[in-house]
Amino acid sequence: MRIYFDHNATTPVDPSAADVMMRVLRDEYGNASSVHRLGQQAKSVMDEARSAVSTLIGAEPSELVFTSGGTEADNFALRGAAEALEPTGRKHLIATSIEHEAVLVTLKALARRGWRTTLLPVGESGIVSPDALKDALTDDTAIVSVMHANNELGTIQPVAELAAIARSKGALFHTDAVQSVAKIPINVRELGVDLLSLSAHKFNGPKGAGALWIKRGTRIVPILTGGKHERTRRAGTENVPAIAGMGVAAERGRAKLGTEAAGVAALRDRLEREILSRIPGTVVNGAREPRVPNTTNISFDRIEAESLLIALDLEGIAVSTGAACSSGTLEPSHVLRAMGLPTHRAQNSIRFSLGAGNTDAEIDYLLEKLPKTVEKLRSLTGARR
Ligand code: PLP
Repeated sequence: MRIYFDHNATTPVDPSAADVMMRVLRDEYGNASSVHRLGQQAKSVMDEARSAVSTLIGAEPSELVFTSGGTEADNFALRGAAEALEPTGRKHLIATSIEHEAVLVTLKALARRGWRTTLLPVGESGIVSPDALKDALTDDTAIVSVMHANNELGTIQPVAELAAIARSKGALFHTDAVQSVAKIPINVRELGVDLLSLSAHKFNGPKGAGALWIKRGTRIVPILTGGKHERTRRAGTENVPAIAGMGVAAERGRAKLGTEAAGVAALRDRLEREILSRIPGTVVNGAREPRVPNTTNISFDRIEAESLLIALDLEGIAVSTGAACSSGTLEPSHVLRAMGLPTHRAQNSIRFSLGAGNTDAEIDYLLEKLPKTVEKLRSLTGARR
């Protein structure tokens, strides 16, 4: 049995998206900038995808810039807006301490270029408070970046409220919506943001494709310079097959938002409830609401998360500890540390992130294996003490 509970790391590609990608890769290989028929065919594939992705987030197609994924979209938003806003004299950037590395490390790079940066704290809820933003904003704040859903906890930040606060002070607002797009309904106008990042491989599209939504009129300069692609906002021949796959995934994601999200939430709630009741010394990290429907992050007292991850993998169950890109190290997650959790709790947490393909039978299997595995690991730890 192979069970995949790591959809926040990446998702399987939707078969219909894979089919379209193969077709485009094989047959519609033109360069979308070429004037001839093959080129125009590729352009029309991109137009279709642009329209599907923008519909998913309630945007105009012309406002969407395709990127190589969420990391590039975050870099583009922050570096591109920072460069455009430098002449205004505002050189202060605010983000939260629970952002993805794509934002946190980019902030450090901007700090080296003379930007002042502030990271908003979060409490044990894993949710940023609007008051913290009000306190941090100054007259020279140029950009505020707050992720929509956190990748480790699933907690949803009050982005609409935070964006309104930032904008009342004249600051641009960016949200990294990589973990919320196609999990919950998103409308960029209702959120009131200026910039929004998304990534195809988190919603059953291919890896290496994403987009930055840029509200019309937003001051931003390209970070990739060269040809006039993407209305001169992002140079480089577009990855048409991946973009086509993202388009199909966006369309399917939108269609599935209501029913499938409810099904995934029911599975996640059952898994969470049963773990808490069957295994002593377990606790959910972060607020349970508001949260994306597929994620739960649970600490297992007296367990080292990496050992549990490996033991579950041997049983055919894939989960993760903290963010996928920082696992492999025993560093406790920066998100759980930012929440003020004691180190042991930050080191013994496991993230279960479900997807539409998961079933009740898979939850049954996990619930059969997990209590025994935890008990065994605890007895080994006890024996060593
Ligand atoms: N932002 C968040 C919240 C993420 O979870 C991720 C991926 O883990 C990224 C950005 C980076 O996206 P990509 O893998 O497409 O570069």
